[in-house]
Amino acid sequence: MIKNYINGALVEPVSDEYFDNYDPSTGKAYEIVPDSDERDIKLAVKAGEKASPMWSTTPAEERSKMMMRIASLIQRDLGEIARAECVDNGKPLSLAKSIDIPRAIRNFEFFASAVHGFASESHSMEDRAINYTLRNPIGVVGAISPWNLPLYLFTWKIAPALITGNCVVAKPSEITPVTANLLSELCIEAGLPKGVLNIVHGYGQKVGRAISAHPAIKAITFTGGTKTGADIAGIAAPMFKKLSLELGGKNPNIIFADCKYDEMLETTIRSSFQNQGEICLCGSRIFVEKSIYKKFKDDFVSRTKKLKVGDPLESKTDQGAIVSKQHLERILSYIELAKKEGGKILFGGRQVHLEGRCKNGWFIEPTVIEGLPYNCRTNREEIFGPVVTLIPFEAEDEVLKMANSTEYGLASIIWTENLSLAHRVAAKIQTGIVWVNCWMVRDLRTPFGGMKSSGVGREGGMDALRFFTEPRNICVKL
Ligand code: NDP
Repeated sequence: MIKNYINGALVEPVSDEYFDNYDPSTGKAYEIVPDSDERDIKLAVKAGEKASPMWSTTPAEERSKMMMRIASLIQRDLGEIARAECVDNGKPLSLAKSIDIPRAIRNFEFFASAVHGFASESHSMEDRAINYTLRNPIGVVGAISPWNLPLYLFTWKIAPALITGNCVVAKPSEITPVTANLLSELCIEAGLPKGVLNIVHGYGQKVGRAISAHPAIKAITFTGGTKTGADIAGIAAPMFKKLSLELGGKNPNIIFADCKYDEMLETTIRSSFQNQGEICLCGSRIFVEKSIYKKFKDDFVSRTKKLKVGDPLESKTDQGAIVSKQHLERILSYIELAKKEGGKILFGGRQVHLEGRCKNGWFIEPTVIEGLPYNCRTNREEIFGPVVTLIPFEAEDEVLKMANSTEYGLASIIWTENLSLAHRVAAKIQTGIVWVNCWMVRDLRTPFGGMKSSGVGREGGMDALRFFTEPRNICVKL
């Protein structure tokens, strides 16, 4: 049974109400989730405020050791946690084992060591004065995360907040709460002082909003949809809270004819369909230079046909279940929209009905669509599923115009062996992250985040440590 983690203990929600949590591969409810509300958030904030004087003055070295202890406990239980993530989210077990949970471990380890290189600035005014900048923890901060990479993104927020001396009130997605609950248990085992981390489960409308609105929470880090981000900003901005918003995307994947073809094809299969296309960084609009369009289309479709949609627990499965029935229906409705807008389905487009254990699960074919105008709704709105569109182009300016034509600006992918072309396009493309001849290669020291409606602020490396601290400049006359 999932419980809230408040003031160092696993507790029931004040409401004493719970709702069902589903296994998307079977469509069956298998767990219950606390239906918490602002009363639980109040308790969590109170616990954070009480722990704050102690945690904020604990030497960084000690905080770092605690993070490493938590990381090693996740490592110890990797198999069990990966299985839990797979069942809760529908992603293939192989992916949870090789990417999601190792990255959660890495998040703690990375920030535990990054803090040692986190220096504050000093500005000398010759013989007149010296300035130095102190970076103190903010106090109690909020973290709200989505369902697509549950523990991976939850820890990406929690680890930098904790290492900089803040106490945290965090809410995982109510659709995928299980691994956050396992993390609560590991934090207790690791001996994390009570109140330092508080995890409150429940609906965004109740728990998420209560985090946004609580006056004692001075900073919020959020990853999720653009509309939700706007809602949070609408509440938090007039209260002058610090905000880091990592939002949606509609990422272009631009393929020039001179690219290393085989490598591009393999990576493009991944960047289109990994995690059922439920990664904010997936390249959902594939722009292909006209001279190789036909060849690419044939090869890409034939490679897509080979992807095995199946039971996420099976090792041969490439594509697991869609996270919820509601999301499955949303993706299918976008496929219908694509048809109405004149799109031709080259492959996929339908729900998959499996046999046996997963017969009532929520599966969908990887879907490839062509023939749509670059500026139609299908090509502008985020689908967040295994659906890509193919769009031919002839000239560099033309593809840049099309790639930059959405409200989003999260990530892009460029395939070419022409160095100056790669640099030119990378400089003009309006996304916070640009990958050239690769995808999802991540150095945790780099600034991560989106432009335009894809977000505000950057996370990762020093950007995250700066976000979670309040700079104070001290000027001393000499
Ligand atoms: P949502 O925006 O629906 O939800 C994200 C989190 O916010 C959940 O915990 C949710 O709770 C909570 N929430 C919902 N409504 C509110 C509210 N009014 N106030 C405060 N919190 C609220 O996103 P999804 O979970 O559907 O995730 C998919 C989205 O996340 C996609 O748009 C994707 O692009 C984006 N994303 C962005 C990434 C990035 O780095 N830029 C990375 C990964 C995903 P509940 O689950 O209860 O609704």
